[in-house]
Amino acid sequence: MVIWMSLWGKKLDREVLPSLEEEKEVDTLIIGGGIAGLTTLYYLKDKEDVFLVDAGKVGDGVTKNTTGKLTFLQNTIYTDLLNNINLETAQDYLQSQKMAIDLAKNIIEKENINCFLERVDSYVFTTKSKEIKKLKQERDFLVSQNIKVKENALPVQLSSIYSISVEDTYVFHPILYVNHLKSLLKEKIFENTKIVKIKKEKGKYVCIGEKIKIIASNVIVACHYPFFFLPFCLPIKAHLEKSYIVVRKVKENPKISAITVSNPGMSIRYHEDESGIYEICLACSHKTSNHQEDAENFKTVKKIFHINEEEVVDLWSNVDIITDDKLPFIGNASKNLFVATGFNTWGMTNGILAGYLLSKKILGDQVPFQELFSLKRSNFYQIKNFFPNLIGSAISFIGSKKRAKKWYKSHLIFTKKNGKPIAIYIDKNGVKHTVFTTCPHMGCSLIFNELEETWDCPCHSSRFTKDGACIKGPSTKDIHYKE
Ligand SMILES: Cc1cc2nc3c(=O)[nH]c(=O)nc-3n(C[C@H](O)[C@H](O)[C@H](O)COP(=O)(O)OP(=O)(O)OC[C@H]3O[C@@H](n4cnc5c(N)ncnc54)[C@H](O)[C@@H]3O)c2cc1C
Repeated sequence: MVIWMSLWGKKLDREVLPSLEEEKEVDTLIIGGGIAGLTTLYYLKDKEDVFLVDAGKVGDGVTKNTTGKLTFLQNTIYTDLLNNINLETAQDYLQSQKMAIDLAKNIIEKENINCFLERVDSYVFTTKSKEIKKLKQERDFLVSQNIKVKENALPVQLSSIYSISVEDTYVFHPILYVNHLKSLLKEKIFENTKIVKIKKEKGKYVCIGEKIKIIASNVIVACHYPFFFLPFCLPIKAHLEKSYIVVRKVKENPKISAITVSNPGMSIRYHEDESGIYEICLACSHKTSNHQEDAENFKTVKKIFHINEEEVVDLWSNVDIITDDKLPFIGNASKNLFVATGFNTWGMTNGILAGYLLSKKILGDQVPFQELFSLKRSNFYQIKNFFPNLIGSAISFIGSKKRAKKWYKSHLIFTKKNGKPIAIYIDKNGVKHTVFTTCPHMGCSLIFNELEETWDCPCHSSRFTKDGACIKGPSTKDIHYKE
């Protein structure tokens, strides 16, 4: 299997924690050990009756493939919120992101986590003259909030025509952060324990796993894409975006991170450790519903950043959830059932913030930003994006049924068994791998990812190995085909 591991995971030897083998009753169960779930567990560490389960290894979800920038300068989010919702929302979101950076710094300092936290200037830049006005609006908003903004040129070789930058932002090694929390909290973590269903019985939640069940008074769902539709209906409130990352070694660290105003996005950051300085380049972001060839996109990233083939030390892709109003969902889905999701590619700040906010809920403390991140909110921005995103999802649902990539013709055989579509993939050794090609989550047709040899869902980001094992939710079921 060719599932890629990013720069972050490659160099680490990580302990595997035991799975949960017996039924348990607990006050608070956290489902999912990415940055959001683990940080929640960290803030609840002094509470006795709480534990976390992860379907695989903690940190091995979307978090392991992030680019690890901790910044409040996020494209032109404040101008978007100001123009489409209101000033108060833009101000609150800015405060929340600044708070998240402080929380991250505090945890890292207090626990003495060696995760290469480095203070850098964050840039937003544009390559298009029509975006300068928007970027200047972003500058004006930030200045009005007493943030020091510079209009200096981007100090790296990219075709930027205008850029702004701010101070007091950071980059870090996300998996060293996650790993440290994992060892600190390992008595409260069970790996390889997947939850497939939640139901309510006698005022408590029964969380049904593949082998066990857990009864909990409070449940925190931090599994990236929740595996249930009701009560929260995420598939109609968000879409998915995929990006491609290529890494090379360089001689100098300019101590910056940078991102473009809008999609298809580009971003760059540097990571420095004892083995050298790495330039982490991201581009070609697109909706997963608008399927593109991964190999072509990696080529484009190399071209944009002038990276020669022999310079490449690593490459990988990653998918995150983009909500219709670009704000995360952190809060109650129903009484005592909490969700943290929809981080809009800013899950380092928002995942850490989610951990803080949800732990406060469990502890019965005052919780800031409740309205801002409410799962039940509705605003003009959501309505404005609802139909384009719904149409995009419909196209991906219908299109995924018809799609026949050029590559498919020589490597895949599509047929049906008892009316259900199946595909036979013949690998480079001539071995056949047969799977059902309908996603068990909501019925979208899966697309074969020939670079990683996985079946990927273009609608909600579930992934399966070439032999049909589910390796990423929201699907909780496999797509194995047996004669
Ligand atoms: C290309 C790219 C670059 C990015 N760069 C940045 C950046 O620079 N800065 C930034 O702030 N953000 C960035 N992000 C966003 C950030 O990486 C994500 O938002 C964040 O990692 C999501 O964390 P999570 O904890 O929600 O999910 P995950 O890390 O996916 O964790 C969820 C966990 O839940 C487990 N799980 C799933 N289903 C179940 C189940 N049924 N039962 C039990 N466990 C389950 C999984 O195994 C997984 O370990 C980027 C995103 C992308 C796509």
